[in-house]
Amino acid sequence: MKYSEIYDDSMLEIFKNESRLFEDIEINIEEPVIDVEKIAGVLKIPVEKKDDIFESGSITPKGNGTPVIEVNSSEAPVRQRFTIAHELGHYFLMEELKEKTNRTPDLSSYDSTQREHEIIANSFAADLLMPMELVKKLMITWLEENNLVNKPFSTIQLLAMQTEIAKKMQVSVEALKIQFKTKNLVVKA
Ligand SMILES: [Zn+2]
Repeated sequence: MKYSEIYDDSMLEIFKNESRLFEDIEINIEEPVIDVEKIAGVLKIPVEKKDDIFESGSITPKGNGTPVIEVNSSEAPVRQRFTIAHELGHYFLMEELKEKTNRTPDLSSYDSTQREHEIIANSFAADLLMPMELVKKLMITWLEENNLVNKPFSTIQLLAMQTEIAKKMQVSVEALKIQFKTKNLVVKA
């Protein structure tokens, strides 16, 4: 399977210039982990692991203006993956802002803008790491394996499903639960 089969057009559109490289990344349903570092590589953004930083990560232009992602390597691997995806969200925001105007930043609105950017970067990260097509495929597999296709199942079973899918995708259960809610992937217990 290729990324072109698991992401919708809105995500493919975000990768514009590098869309071909992005679309062609292979993913195996038996090992359904989105390769965030490979995605950063497609964008030619180096990812540096640091154990001496206090925040989870950052993206900053270095030297010739090329951005570099720093990620806190002392945090859990799922957390690091989310951080890299989150920083990629900032990268696309930066690109978008560059394309728009270069008006002077309104300092009084800085905090709310920053907060807004955090929300956008988080939702980008969630969509990048947990594309719905992939989540749905894994849901169907789980339901089949547990003989629960078209059958009601309990809240405990829902949590068991989310836990297993999150583990397979190398995302946190919390993040997957939020994605279920955001995408209205409601499974009636
Ligand atoms: Zn951020």
